[in-house]
Amino acid sequence: MSTPADRLANRIFLGMIVGVTLGALLRLLFPHVNGLESLAKQTSIQLLDPLGRIFLRLLFLVVVPLVFASLALGVVQLGRLDRLGPMAGRTFALFGLNMAIGVGLGLLVMNGVKPGTRLEPETREKIQAQFKGEVQKQESRSAEVTAGPTQRPLPWLVDTFLPANMLRAVVGDTTTRIGDVLPLILFALLIGAAGTTLPEAQRQSLQQLLELLSGLMTRIVGWALQLAPVAVAAMLLSTVINLGLQFLIPLLWFTVSVLVVMAIHCFGTMSLLLRFLSSRSPVEFFRAIRTILFTAFSTSSSNATLPTSLQVTQERLKVSAPVAGFVLPLGATMNMSGTALYEGCVVLFIAQVYGVDLSLSQQIILLLLTVLSAVAVAGIPGASLPLIIGLLANFQIPAEGIGLILGVDRLLDMARTTLNVAADVVTAVIVDESEQRSQ
Ligand code: ASP
Repeated sequence: MSTPADRLANRIFLGMIVGVTLGALLRLLFPHVNGLESLAKQTSIQLLDPLGRIFLRLLFLVVVPLVFASLALGVVQLGRLDRLGPMAGRTFALFGLNMAIGVGLGLLVMNGVKPGTRLEPETREKIQAQFKGEVQKQESRSAEVTAGPTQRPLPWLVDTFLPANMLRAVVGDTTTRIGDVLPLILFALLIGAAGTTLPEAQRQSLQQLLELLSGLMTRIVGWALQLAPVAVAAMLLSTVINLGLQFLIPLLWFTVSVLVVMAIHCFGTMSLLLRFLSSRSPVEFFRAIRTILFTAFSTSSSNATLPTSLQVTQERLKVSAPVAGFVLPLGATMNMSGTALYEGCVVLFIAQVYGVDLSLSQQIILLLLTVLSAVAVAGIPGASLPLIIGLLANFQIPAEGIGLILGVDRLLDMARTTLNVAADVVTAVIVDESEQRSQ
């Protein structure tokens, strides 16, 4: 039976096909119909681009409150930090390790394959010329940023994470750009940590308030996604009118590379972790969790997969109820290995398309940020999109670039959710064995 999320995904995909086909047909007609090309280009500036922008700006709108509320909430709901036992310590260490390895692999492959540069030089120039003003600004900013961490690491770190005026840094300086997300992340973590030290009744009120705020923002994301089919059609039609079908080549490279690296992380990294940190055979493990993987793949939601993972992990993998009950729900909200990997890949891909060079130190910061922002992603379909926009803004990459990947996002959402959930179950198995050993 198809769910509303499936139907929406089908409509978005249809929007992509309509936009690309209509654009290709129009381009075929350009040489034969007088004035058609200039009419189409005018329409794309006057109508199609603003239509796409409504959708994107709705997502931009929620970035700051959403990042803040979901990260602070993640920390506050842990309760008293000093009361969390060694089981929690192991769980968080594995979550962090898994996400960091995922992003590392993703960045490595994106740097090697460079899907965003697989455009004809002429099309590349056109894309970059369209954003010339922006790109020039980015170049000078990224030169500043590049010089910063390498030449003056400590002052740079302090200024970036703790600017004198946090609000101003977050608000940004133009109408088209979101501000920096780094100080916001630190602020949210601090509020969350401070919240855990409040008396229980107050901590709960703070938790409810943050839940309310992130719930509201998630609603707005939901509305934005309802507009996605039309917005995707408009954005792709405009892209094809202006650039032709050229941009499909890097998109294809991007999609295939992401799927390959996700498969490596899922079956390679997870198998290694199981081999070295548990006594399980990886083949047996993957056979046992088939149902979980299928559920995650078809729902694109870690939350929706939770009941299945709880059941299978306890019944088939014989993980004890307290460990499964602690690790899996926490993992469904915090441990987003596939999402972190995907976020890093998208940022690097869009940077490559726009010719924004991210230095090694910037990529290390990107790794850290993707892990932190993935923690803030809710376990529902499409939840990482606003966070990716925040990351793009942080590195001065045109956030509109996300329009390029929207058509393939659903497929990659299915794959990344599967990876998210697999990493949760791997963690539960390893933590369970180490609990048994320490008893
Ligand atoms: N759909 C993902 C999940 O539920 C989150 C995302 O990356 O959008 O795990």
